Amino acid sequence: MNSLSDRLQAIRDRIAAAAQRCGRDPVSVELLAVSKTFPVEAIREAVDAGQLLFGENKVQEILGKAPQLPTNLQWHLIGHLQSNKVRKVLPVVKAIHSIGSLDLARDVDRIAGELGLFPQVYLEVNLAEESSKHGFGVEQVREGLEALYALKRIEIQGLMCIPPFDPDPALSRPYFVRLRELREELEQRGGVPLPRLSMGMSHDFEIAIEEGATIVRVGSAIFGDRTYPTPA
Ligand SMILES: *Cc1c(COP(=O)(O)O)cnc(C)c1O
Repeated sequence: MNSLSDRLQAIRDRIAAAAQRCGRDPVSVELLAVSKTFPVEAIREAVDAGQLLFGENKVQEILGKAPQLPTNLQWHLIGHLQSNKVRKVLPVVKAIHSIGSLDLARDVDRIAGELGLFPQVYLEVNLAEESSKHGFGVEQVREGLEALYALKRIEIQGLMCIPPFDPDPALSRPYFVRLRELREELEQRGGVPLPRLSMGMSHDFEIAIEEGATIVRVGSAIFGDRTYPTPA
Protein backbone atom coordinates (compact mmCIF):
# COMPACT_ATOMS: atom_id res chain seq x y z
CA MET A 1 0.00 0.00 0.00
CA ASN A 2 2.85 2.35 -0.73
CA SER A 3 2.31 3.90 -4.12
CA LEU A 4 0.26 7.00 -4.52
CA SER A 5 -2.18 5.21 -6.80
CA ASP A 6 -2.70 2.51 -4.15
CA ARG A 7 -3.41 5.13 -1.51
CA LEU A 8 -5.79 6.94 -3.83
CA GLN A 9 -7.66 3.72 -4.56
CA ALA A 10 -7.84 2.93 -0.85
CA ILE A 11 -9.45 6.32 -0.19
CA ARG A 12 -11.93 5.79 -3.02
CA ASP A 13 -12.84 2.42 -1.56
CA ARG A 14 -13.32 3.90 1.90
CA ILE A 15 -15.49 6.70 0.48
CA ALA A 16 -17.69 4.16 -1.32
CA ALA A 17 -17.93 1.96 1.78
CA ALA A 18 -18.85 4.89 4.03
CA ALA A 19 -21.51 6.03 1.57
CA GLN A 20 -22.99 2.54 1.30
CA ARG A 21 -23.04 2.10 5.07
CA CYS A 22 -25.43 5.01 5.37
CA GLY A 23 -27.50 4.27 2.30
CA ARG A 24 -25.98 6.89 0.04
CA ASP A 25 -24.93 6.49 -3.56
CA PRO A 26 -21.10 6.57 -3.62
CA VAL A 27 -21.16 8.84 -6.67
CA SER A 28 -22.83 11.51 -4.53
CA VAL A 29 -19.49 12.06 -2.77
CA GLU A 30 -16.67 13.74 -4.68
CA LEU A 31 -13.03 13.35 -3.73
CA LEU A 32 -11.03 16.58 -3.76
CA ALA A 33 -7.35 15.59 -3.66
CA VAL A 34 -5.60 18.27 -1.63
CA SER A 35 -2.18 18.63 -3.23
CA LYS A 36 -0.91 21.65 -1.30
CA THR A 37 2.85 21.58 -0.66
CA PHE A 38 3.28 18.61 -3.04
CA PRO A 39 5.08 18.98 -6.36
CA VAL A 40 3.52 18.64 -9.80
CA GLU A 41 5.13 15.19 -10.18
CA ALA A 42 2.96 13.89 -7.34
CA ILE A 43 -0.11 15.46 -8.92
CA ARG A 44 0.77 13.80 -12.24
CA GLU A 45 0.86 10.43 -10.50
CA ALA A 46 -2.62 11.08 -9.16
CA VAL A 47 -3.79 12.17 -12.61
CA ASP A 48 -2.40 8.95 -14.09
CA ALA A 49 -4.49 7.11 -11.49
CA GLY A 50 -7.60 8.88 -12.74
CA GLN A 51 -7.88 11.82 -10.33
CA LEU A 52 -8.93 15.11 -11.98
CA LEU A 53 -10.17 17.18 -9.04
CA PHE A 54 -7.51 18.96 -6.96
CA GLY A 55 -7.57 21.40 -4.06
CA GLU A 56 -4.94 23.94 -3.08
CA ASN A 57 -5.02 26.42 -0.24
CA LYS A 58 -2.79 29.12 -1.72
CA VAL A 59 -3.39 31.19 -4.83
CA GLN A 60 0.31 31.36 -5.69
CA GLU A 61 0.60 27.60 -5.55
CA ILE A 62 -2.32 27.03 -7.92
CA LEU A 63 -0.97 29.63 -10.33
CA GLY A 64 2.42 27.93 -10.27
CA LYS A 65 1.18 24.37 -10.71
CA ALA A 66 -1.85 24.56 -12.98
CA PRO A 67 0.01 25.67 -16.14
CA GLN A 68 2.37 22.69 -15.83
CA LEU A 69 -0.45 20.17 -15.76
CA PRO A 70 -3.15 18.97 -18.18
CA THR A 71 -5.89 21.51 -18.83
CA ASN A 72 -8.69 19.05 -18.06
CA LEU A 73 -7.93 19.13 -14.33
CA GLN A 74 -10.33 20.98 -12.08
CA TRP A 75 -8.88 23.21 -9.36
CA HIS A 76 -10.63 24.24 -6.19
CA LEU A 77 -9.30 26.88 -3.82
CA ILE A 78 -9.82 25.77 -0.23
CA GLY A 79 -7.68 28.28 1.69
CA HIS A 80 -8.16 31.87 2.70
CA LEU A 81 -8.52 34.22 -0.25
CA GLN A 82 -7.42 37.84 -0.08
CA SER A 83 -9.40 40.30 -2.14
CA ASN A 84 -6.33 41.42 -4.05
CA LYS A 85 -5.82 37.90 -5.41
CA VAL A 86 -9.36 37.28 -6.66
CA ARG A 87 -8.66 38.53 -10.19
CA LYS A 88 -5.67 36.25 -10.58
CA VAL A 89 -7.22 33.10 -9.23
CA LEU A 90 -10.70 33.20 -10.78
CA PRO A 91 -9.67 32.20 -14.30
CA VAL A 92 -7.91 29.10 -12.96
CA VAL A 93 -10.38 27.69 -10.43
CA LYS A 94 -13.75 26.06 -10.86
CA ALA A 95 -14.75 26.52 -7.22
CA ILE A 96 -13.80 28.43 -4.08
CA HIS A 97 -14.58 26.70 -0.78
CA SER A 98 -13.47 29.56 1.43
CA ILE A 99 -15.91 32.43 0.95
CA GLY A 100 -15.90 33.64 4.54
CA SER A 101 -17.39 37.12 4.40
CA LEU A 102 -19.93 39.16 2.52
CA ASP A 103 -17.20 41.57 1.44
CA LEU A 104 -15.21 38.77 -0.17
CA ALA A 105 -18.34 37.38 -1.83
CA ARG A 106 -19.04 40.82 -3.28
CA ASP A 107 -15.48 41.14 -4.60
CA VAL A 108 -15.64 37.70 -6.21
CA ASP A 109 -19.03 38.50 -7.73
CA ARG A 110 -17.90 41.83 -9.16
CA ILE A 111 -14.66 40.51 -10.60
CA ALA A 112 -16.33 37.37 -11.96
CA GLY A 113 -18.67 39.72 -13.81
CA GLU A 114 -15.74 41.66 -15.26
CA LEU A 115 -14.08 38.42 -16.36
CA GLY A 116 -17.26 36.81 -17.70
CA LEU A 117 -17.12 33.93 -15.23
CA PHE A 118 -19.61 32.17 -12.93
CA PRO A 119 -17.49 30.59 -10.19
CA GLN A 120 -18.94 27.97 -7.87
CA VAL A 121 -18.56 28.98 -4.24
CA TYR A 122 -19.07 27.51 -0.80
CA LEU A 123 -19.76 29.64 2.25
CA GLU A 124 -17.19 28.76 4.90
CA VAL A 125 -18.72 28.70 8.35
CA ASN A 126 -16.55 29.04 11.42
CA LEU A 127 -18.82 26.93 13.60
CA ALA A 128 -16.63 27.00 16.69
CA GLU A 129 -16.16 30.78 16.28
CA GLU A 130 -12.40 30.26 16.55
CA SER A 131 -10.65 33.60 16.33
CA SER A 132 -7.73 31.99 14.49
CA LYS A 133 -9.95 30.92 11.63
CA HIS A 134 -11.70 32.65 8.78
CA GLY A 135 -15.30 32.15 7.86
CA PHE A 136 -18.78 33.43 8.56
CA GLY A 137 -20.09 33.16 12.08
CA VAL A 138 -23.41 31.33 12.18
CA GLU A 139 -25.33 34.52 12.88
CA GLN A 140 -23.42 36.36 10.16
CA VAL A 141 -24.33 33.85 7.50
CA ARG A 142 -27.99 34.01 8.53
CA GLU A 143 -27.97 37.78 8.34
CA GLY A 144 -26.00 37.88 5.11
CA LEU A 145 -28.07 35.36 3.20
CA GLU A 146 -30.28 37.78 1.33
CA ALA A 147 -27.33 39.91 0.26
CA LEU A 148 -25.44 36.80 -0.82
CA TYR A 149 -28.33 35.60 -2.96
CA ALA A 150 -28.44 38.97 -4.66
CA LEU A 151 -24.97 38.29 -6.11
CA LYS A 152 -25.71 36.81 -9.51
CA ARG A 153 -22.23 35.93 -10.74
CA ILE A 154 -21.46 33.45 -7.99
CA GLU A 155 -23.11 30.06 -7.86
CA ILE A 156 -23.53 29.24 -4.20
CA GLN A 157 -23.19 25.48 -3.89
CA GLY A 158 -23.53 25.11 -0.17
CA LEU A 159 -21.49 25.26 3.01
CA MET A 160 -17.98 24.33 4.07
CA CYS A 161 -16.41 23.88 7.50
CA ILE A 162 -13.10 22.96 9.11
CA PRO A 163 -13.80 21.66 12.62
CA PRO A 164 -11.21 22.40 15.31
CA PHE A 165 -8.53 19.78 14.85
CA ASP A 166 -8.55 16.83 17.18
CA PRO A 167 -6.89 13.49 16.40
CA ASP A 168 -10.09 11.76 17.52
CA PRO A 169 -12.35 11.98 14.45
CA ALA A 170 -15.44 11.37 16.58
CA LEU A 171 -15.07 14.91 17.88
CA SER A 172 -15.65 16.27 14.37
CA ARG A 173 -19.10 14.74 14.11
CA PRO A 174 -21.03 17.40 16.05
CA TYR A 175 -19.62 20.06 13.71
CA PHE A 176 -20.63 18.11 10.63
CA VAL A 177 -24.11 17.70 12.09
CA ARG A 178 -24.34 21.42 12.79
CA LEU A 179 -23.26 22.29 9.26
CA ARG A 180 -25.91 20.01 7.80
CA GLU A 181 -28.58 21.44 10.09
CA LEU A 182 -27.51 24.99 9.28
CA ARG A 183 -27.77 24.14 5.60
CA GLU A 184 -31.36 22.97 6.11
CA GLU A 185 -32.22 26.07 8.07
CA LEU A 186 -30.77 28.38 5.43
CA GLU A 187 -32.55 26.53 2.64
CA GLN A 188 -35.87 27.13 4.37
CA ARG A 189 -35.05 30.72 5.18
CA GLY A 190 -33.86 31.62 1.70
CA GLY A 191 -36.03 29.27 -0.32
CA VAL A 192 -32.95 28.34 -2.36
CA PRO A 193 -31.34 24.89 -2.32
CA LEU A 194 -27.82 24.55 -0.95
CA PRO A 195 -27.12 21.08 -2.25
CA ARG A 196 -23.48 20.68 -1.35
CA LEU A 197 -21.49 20.26 1.84
CA SER A 198 -17.67 20.47 1.75
CA MET A 199 -16.52 18.72 4.90
CA GLY A 200 -14.16 15.98 6.00
CA MET A 201 -10.38 15.64 5.74
CA SER A 202 -7.93 12.72 5.91
CA HIS A 203 -8.74 11.77 9.49
CA ASP A 204 -12.48 12.30 9.56
CA PHE A 205 -13.89 12.05 6.01
CA GLU A 206 -15.88 8.89 6.68
CA ILE A 207 -17.77 10.57 9.50
CA ALA A 208 -18.36 13.60 7.26
CA ILE A 209 -19.88 11.31 4.61
CA GLU A 210 -22.18 9.78 7.22
CA GLU A 211 -23.36 13.29 8.03
CA GLY A 212 -23.96 14.33 4.43
CA ALA A 213 -20.67 15.55 2.90
CA THR A 214 -20.87 15.81 -0.88
CA ILE A 215 -17.17 16.62 -1.30
CA VAL A 216 -14.37 15.53 1.03
CA ARG A 217 -11.00 17.30 1.02
CA VAL A 218 -8.29 14.68 1.48
CA GLY A 219 -4.59 15.53 1.40
CA SER A 220 -2.12 13.63 3.56
CA ALA A 221 -3.91 10.28 3.28
CA ILE A 222 -3.22 10.42 -0.47
CA PHE A 223 0.00 12.38 -0.85
CA GLY A 224 1.71 11.58 2.46
CA ASP A 225 2.69 13.75 5.37
CA ARG A 226 3.44 17.36 4.57
CA THR A 227 6.97 18.28 5.48
CA TYR A 228 6.12 21.79 6.50
CA PRO A 229 2.99 23.06 8.13
CA THR A 230 0.58 25.26 6.25
CA PRO A 231 -2.20 27.31 7.75
CA ALA A 232 -5.61 25.84 7.09
C1 LIG B 1 -4.88 20.92 4.10
C2 LIG B 1 -6.35 20.99 4.06
C3 LIG B 1 -7.12 19.84 3.91
C4 LIG B 1 -6.53 18.44 3.82
O1 LIG B 1 -6.02 18.06 5.04
P1 LIG B 1 -5.46 16.56 5.28
O2 LIG B 1 -5.52 16.39 6.73
O3 LIG B 1 -4.07 16.54 4.74
O4 LIG B 1 -6.36 15.64 4.55
C5 LIG B 1 -8.51 19.97 3.85
N1 LIG B 1 -9.09 21.19 3.91
C6 LIG B 1 -8.38 22.32 4.06
C7 LIG B 1 -9.10 23.62 4.13
C8 LIG B 1 -7.00 22.26 4.13
O5 LIG B 1 -6.30 23.40 4.27
